[in-house]
Amino acid sequence: MNVFTSAEPLQKHLLNYPNKGFVPTMGALHEGHFSLIKEAILHQYLPIVSIFVNPAQFNDINDFHKYPSTIAEDLKKLHELEVPVVFLPKTAVLYPNGWQNLEKYELGTLENLFEGAHRPGHFQGVCQILSRLFQLIEPQRVYMGQKDFQQCMVVKKLLQLLHSKAELVICPTIREQSGLAKSSRNMRLSETEKSKAAHLYKNLKNLQSRLKTGNEAKLLEEAIADLERNGFKMEYLNIAETDSLTPLEYLPVDRKAVLLAAGWMGDVRLIDNLPL
Ligand code: AMP
Repeated sequence: MNVFTSAEPLQKHLLNYPNKGFVPTMGALHEGHFSLIKEAILHQYLPIVSIFVNPAQFNDINDFHKYPSTIAEDLKKLHELEVPVVFLPKTAVLYPNGWQNLEKYELGTLENLFEGAHRPGHFQGVCQILSRLFQLIEPQRVYMGQKDFQQCMVVKKLLQLLHSKAELVICPTIREQSGLAKSSRNMRLSETEKSKAAHLYKNLKNLQSRLKTGNEAKLLEEAIADLERNGFKMEYLNIAETDSLTPLEYLPVDRKAVLLAAGWMGDVRLIDNLPL
């Protein structure tokens, strides 16, 4: 396994790689991340994994400082998975002129809805880092998780804006047995909080099976009440149109919609989603 911390040697090394399947991460790796790597391997793409906690995408500096870091274990696991290339850059490598006042991307309404609305600047930060990483790595494919549903849409848009030929491969959300979506942030939950947090997915599943035209408002209200009883402070739980993420009051007849949710369990912000 080749671990690079600077750009030039990485680029030189990658000249020999035909099928690059890029897996960008912020580390504290778990089965969700590994599933992306395994998917790339399955498709016979060489997984290139980056680990970088990107300051530009944190609208809350405390969240940035508290973000878990388990580099030694991450590298051990990546080695076991036979990942050929890991990129572990320092901030100055990617942002030599600092990470304030960077270029802006025209993301349209995606930027003002749901995660965009609740985390101002977040998706600009995501685009700023990914555009740099894409430029360095020049992947043929990018593997990302459906867990971050809106992020996947933003990245699709970014690839268009960059006129990139890279293909985005969206992989299913990996969950704990309880249904809780695996996330690096789960490390910051106590066992009690973890079991309470599983109610998020339970409610999404319940809504998925029970929602029909006419009962949306009532069922969403009941779900939010159940989540709050179980310790969540919800930011949103909504139905949205799948392709545009336009919030919907009514479930469309073709069910081309997705449930999107974000809420706080203690001081940990969790998100989840479920296509309807
Ligand atoms: P992160 O390190 O949280 O930035 O995530 C890196 C990549 O892993 C993103 O594409 C995420 O969507 C993906 N990911 C995170 N958690 C999961 C999960 N539970 N299942 C599938 N993919 C995930």
